[in-house]
Amino acid sequence: MSPHESGNPHNLLGKSPDELREFMHALGEPAYRGGQIYHALYAERRFDVAAMSNLPAPLRERLGREAVIALPEIRRRYESSDGAVRYVLALGGAEDLGVAIQKPATVEAVFMPEENRQTICISTQAGCAVDCHFCLTATLGLVRNLTAAEIVGQVLVALEDHRAYLKPQTNVVLMGQGEPLLNYDAVITAVRILLDPNGMAITPKHTTLSTSGIIPGIDRLAQEKVRPKLAISLNASSNEQRDAIMPINRKYPIEKLLETCARYPLRPWEHLTFEYVLLGGFNDAPDDARRLAKLLANLRAKINLIPWNPGELPYEEPNAERIEEFRRILNEKHIPAFVRYSRGQDVMAACGQLAVLESKQDSSGSRLSQISPT
Ligand code: SF4
Repeated sequence: MSPHESGNPHNLLGKSPDELREFMHALGEPAYRGGQIYHALYAERRFDVAAMSNLPAPLRERLGREAVIALPEIRRRYESSDGAVRYVLALGGAEDLGVAIQKPATVEAVFMPEENRQTICISTQAGCAVDCHFCLTATLGLVRNLTAAEIVGQVLVALEDHRAYLKPQTNVVLMGQGEPLLNYDAVITAVRILLDPNGMAITPKHTTLSTSGIIPGIDRLAQEKVRPKLAISLNASSNEQRDAIMPINRKYPIEKLLETCARYPLRPWEHLTFEYVLLGGFNDAPDDARRLAKLLANLRAKINLIPWNPGELPYEEPNAERIEEFRRILNEKHIPAFVRYSRGQDVMAACGQLAVLESKQDSSGSRLSQISPT
């Protein structure tokens, strides 16, 4: 079975149990076989129907002819000295009656091992239309939305690549290329598979979706029975400042965004996470920290401070004293704040870094970019 044929209409990946049951029914097979395929794919992570020992041999043979399990293809793999692995993944195109309905694309995912767990950062779009000025994915524009199969497939590929050394806990962060809430349906389909105890069985506590602040998407996510934790990429302490680096703020300004956050139904164990990329000399002053504390004072919030990674963009790395001062002011105002240093900097896997290594056209015609802060 080819790992790279997402154009095939019978890709088994990315389908809900009900869709797989319908597919089996359409083939004249008992519908419950769909549930067995789902279990083999996600609970056992078997990516060859021939190895799905819970299916009868004739069905395995038939599926071998009529279906594919189209995982993203690892185009390149960069291993950092800190153990993080950055993947450049090729995604197939699709045709209908000879007409391209989905172009091939290239995205990135990052696997970060820790003592008792691994964290996998995945992309939800190839490129991005949101145009945050500190992010080089933005320079690509939107190439295309990813399908649910391509989103969940990134997690499967990264886990499979480390199958022999997996830690008991897996965290997934939807913080790679793209704005997840602008590809809502595919993202939520993938999230349901990731969080399904009969699927990938990753818990909501260990899954985070990060948004640049798409208010209608946040309101929609609030209605979902199954949802990950929510992180908001804020990065500024005033509208004027945020307008200058995140044009999306003109559409969804800070006060409206925070009103949306205030009505977001948090579960008892949950905090909203606000991400704040510290750009040296731009948004890292003590007054910024005070304004930020005031903005978030009435929310159950925590802040991740992400010191800017030096790269090609015209921002400076904040100095260590400013970072510590910023964190201290927030903590004094009773806002939990943590400094998060990016992993994998030597392989350009860190948040907001430019993949200068591969920013040109690659052989499939797709341009590559970095793992970005949302
Ligand atoms: Fe898009 Fe996220 Fe980059 Fe903003 S930071 S342009 S939302 S990928």
